[in-house]
Amino acid sequence: MDFTKYIEKVDKDVAYIIKQEVKRNRENLLMIASENYADEAILQAQGSVFTNKYAEGYPGKRFYQGVEWCDKIEQLAIDRAKQLFGAEHANVQPNSGSQTNQSVYLAVLAPGDSILGMNLAAGGHLTHGAPASSSGKLYKSHSYGVNKDTYLLDYDEIAAKAKEVKPKIIVAGASAYPRQIDFKKFREIADSVGAFLLADIAHYAGLVAVKLFPDPVPYCDFVTTTTHKTLKGPRGGLILCREKYAKAVNSAVFPGMQGGPLMHVIAAKAICFGEALKPAFKLYQEQVIKNAQLLGAELIKKGYKVLTGGTDCHLILVDLRPDNITGKDAALALDKAGITLNKNGVPFDTQNPFITSGIRVGTPAITARGMKEKEIVMIAGWMDEVMKNSTDEKVIKSVRAKVLKLCGKFPVYNR
Ligand code: PLP
Repeated sequence: MDFTKYIEKVDKDVAYIIKQEVKRNRENLLMIASENYADEAILQAQGSVFTNKYAEGYPGKRFYQGVEWCDKIEQLAIDRAKQLFGAEHANVQPNSGSQTNQSVYLAVLAPGDSILGMNLAAGGHLTHGAPASSSGKLYKSHSYGVNKDTYLLDYDEIAAKAKEVKPKIIVAGASAYPRQIDFKKFREIADSVGAFLLADIAHYAGLVAVKLFPDPVPYCDFVTTTTHKTLKGPRGGLILCREKYAKAVNSAVFPGMQGGPLMHVIAAKAICFGEALKPAFKLYQEQVIKNAQLLGAELIKKGYKVLTGGTDCHLILVDLRPDNITGKDAALALDKAGITLNKNGVPFDTQNPFITSGIRVGTPAITARGMKEKEIVMIAGWMDEVMKNSTDEKVIKSVRAKVLKLCGKFPVYNR
């Protein structure tokens, strides 16, 4: 794909930077758990003339003229999202995952109401009530964590916390939790205190769509997700809910949180949901999980502390405290070697969030390139080499050369 054909003629500076980013996409092992390679079709839709169009409102009920094709594309995206997740209602307009959660809160909470969500330090997301986010500023936020011995969600503790703080909404879901989430138990807890239940499956949505991760839709009042992580679509958000909340959710998104919807992104979302409905998507997700599980097992074999002993999904969390290297130093050295992942706090971390004691590693993007077991074993070996010799430029250089060679065998964006 020629990413800069027209940009080149207009703005050489921007064209140059985009070309460098394409090169980085091609020549690095992208292992940030929340990232993926959106297909060329998704990128093309986002560059389409829908960029030009204002379409405030919803299909059949807009505030502008000339929206006949906007209605068609948005309805297609809605229908496919509903089919994919078996949901009664879908809103495909949120511009991001954060805005999906903010919109649900706006739909059913008043300022000062309480939220019970997963602690950021334990693996939750900012929008689940963290003090720095609007969810923690506008609402009274309470949090639950993981068990300090098992690093797993402890549903009895969550139930006790819910009884204590009586939240108006409970948020299930995480950014860095490698194990399955029991949404049925969350429903029971929510019912025991009369709370709404929101599942934020931003990370797991691709796996949920093909039933390789527990399905929250039957148990939750609201399900939110991003579309750009395991779902492999454009950057953006999606809200699913019961029909009885459809009006409240739609009004919260527009005009509550946003203005004109990004119709070019909605076109790309329609493609994303269409792709996820195809049989090949399930095979892809199966491989994503197999790769993550093997990566965890290989790192454990090399002596690393992989939290919870492995994973049920697309990511692993490695606690580097026994290895005398911080998350920051590991991530920087690995990136230099062409293995791009992120430092991550581990539960009960004593390091500050800019340093951290761990790394989070994901397999969606390298699996999208076609990498399988053989490559995972090699990558685990290189990660070990780099983390054990993080200041040795010779080692980093030699791993960089091997990464480059491997990337050359699994081309991306070469259509
Ligand atoms: N929810 C969860 C669980 C996430 O992990 C993320 C992003 O990492 C978000 C919401 C927010 O998504 P966005 O970055 O699109 O606002």
